[in-house]
This record gives sequence, C-alpha cells and structure tokens, in this order.
Amino acid sequence: MAQVMAQKCSLCDENNGTNYCYECQHALCTACRSKHGKIPALSGHTVADINTIDLSTLNKRNQCDTHNKEMLFYCTECSNLICSKCVTSTHRSHAISDICDVVEEERENAKENLQQMRLKTETISSLQEKIRREHIENLHAESKKCIEHIESVCKDLHSFIEAQGSVKTTEVEDNGNIEKSNFESFLKNTDLVHKQYVHILSELENLLLEKHDITFYSRYKSIKSDIETLISIPEEPPFARVPSFDDEVLYKEAMEYMGSKMDKRIQKIQGNSSKRSRNKGRSNQKVVRRYQGRTEKIAVRTHKCNSPERCRD
Ligand SMILES: [Zn+2]
Ligand SMILES: [Zn+2]
Ligand SMILES: [Zn+2]
Ligand SMILES: [Zn+2]
Repeated sequence: MAQVMAQKCSLCDENNGTNYCYECQHALCTACRSKHGKIPALSGHTVADINTIDLSTLNKRNQCDTHNKEMLFYCTECSNLICSKCVTSTHRSHAISDICDVVEEERENAKENLQQMRLKTETISSLQEKIRREHIENLHAESKKCIEHIESVCKDLHSFIEAQGSVKTTEVEDNGNIEKSNFESFLKNTDLVHKQYVHILSELENLLLEKHDITFYSRYKSIKSDIETLISIPEEPPFARVPSFDDEVLYKEAMEYMGSKMDKRIQKIQGNSSKRSRNKGRSNQKVVRRYQGRTEKIAVRTHKCNSPERCRD
C-alpha cells in the first residue's frame, strides 16, 4: 500500500491522500474530503478510506472493457454492468436497470452468503472439535478396550495352561518324593545289614589272629551261628517309575478349553439372535456357523493329534 499512501490529494495537490472517491477516481486529503462533501454536484459520490481500497484493480473494474468508459447501467438480460456506449450498441433493446437497484439486491445476497459462510465455518469448526474431542478420544478408548480384551483372553489362556501344567508338574514332583523316600528307607535298611556284615567281617579278621585252638574253635562256632542268622543282601530295587508326560494331552486340554470358550460365545450369539429380527438373525447364524466351523476344525485337529489307541478311549 506504499504507492497508495504516496498519492497526493487531487484537490489541494499538497497533502497525502487519506481517502478515495470512486466517482472522481482521485485521492483526497482529510481537509479536502469535507470540502468535496459540501459540493452539491458531488453529493452522491462514494468516498472511502484509501487503505481499504486495492487501487491496482479499481480502474479496470470501473470501466467497460470494450469502450473504456465508466460503467453506468446494468443489463438485466446479460447480467452485466455496461457503459453508455454499450446501451446503444451491443446491448441495444436489452432491458436496462440502475446499478444501485441491482447492487442493493446483490448486497442482500452477499449478506445471505455471509450468513451461510458463517454457519458453514462454524460447522467445519465444530466438526474439527468433534473429531478432536470425540473421534480421537473414542479411538483411544476403543483401542484401550480392545487391548484389554486381548490381554484378558491371553491371561485367561495363560492361567489355564499354567494351572494344567502345575497339575502335571505336581504329579511328577509328588511321585518323585514318594520314590525318593522309598529309596531312603531302602538305604536305611541296607545300612543295618551292612553294619552286621562289617561286624562279622572284623570278628573273622580278629579270629584268624587267634593262636589258641580251643578258643578259636569256640569263637568260630559262635560266629558261624551269627553268619547263619544274617539277613540276606537286599535285592536291587527297580528304577523308580516316573509318570510319563504326553504333550498331546496338554495340547488337547488347551484346545478343549478354547473350544468350551467358543461354545459359550456361540450360545451367547444364539441367545442374542433369537431376540433380534429374523433378518439380523440370519447374519448371526452365519457368525454361529463360522464359529461352529472353527470348533469343528479344532475337534478334527484334536482327533488327529491322538494316537489310535487313545481314540478308542
Ligand atoms: Zn487536499
Ligand atoms: Zn468525487
Ligand atoms: Zn461499453
Ligand atoms: Zn445486454
């Protein structure tokens, strides 16, 4: 706007123009503006703050492109502003009206546009606000809910498998404790036997050092009777039995558990679908069939997992 500000007042040609008269197409200083307003011939002119006007396009918009003359009328047939030459040439016999009448109507239209734009910008703002407040929060909340659901299912499966594993490891541990205590009592008994044998062994060693025949004979007789009453050496016990772990059993238990979970879901879906309309029910039937398909597949897989012997059970 520097160029605009530099325009001199066209009346006094001294001060910088602060206003602009559309009809005179000149800048006016503040003092000359009031003089301009008092001249009766110029009373209908439109004067505005020079800073609010884009002078670069002003002249073009004011003049007829064909005749380079000021636009003075409005052709209602062509919906165009026209100059005095247009009236007698291109737009001859067209219906003509005053620019101010058309502009008045257009101002009303512009006001309506403004109102609509206001409503639309408000709609956009409230939409954005809704996206920020509701949609993004909803996304967070739903994602959180979904993750919690996944975690709870995983936790459930994990605790089921852990519990089953614990039952099996406890069985092995309990068996180990029983078998170990059997071995310990065997060792305790064997200790007694061992002591008796060691005792007789040392008796015999001492006996063989005996020089006196009679003494030897009578002591040996007593030792021999001790040898006869000795408990025989215990037989080696068999290796301890350790319960066998069939991993397929655990897999099967896990799958049966998952199958029971899905059965519950199917029952729930069937319960819901019976409450709803037949139409909706049909789509639920599809879901039910899908779940049933899955459980059947699991059942088939479980079946395959087991050896033929187990299948007969
Ligand atoms: Zn002036
Ligand atoms: Zn003027
Ligand atoms: Zn013209
Ligand atoms: Zn026309």
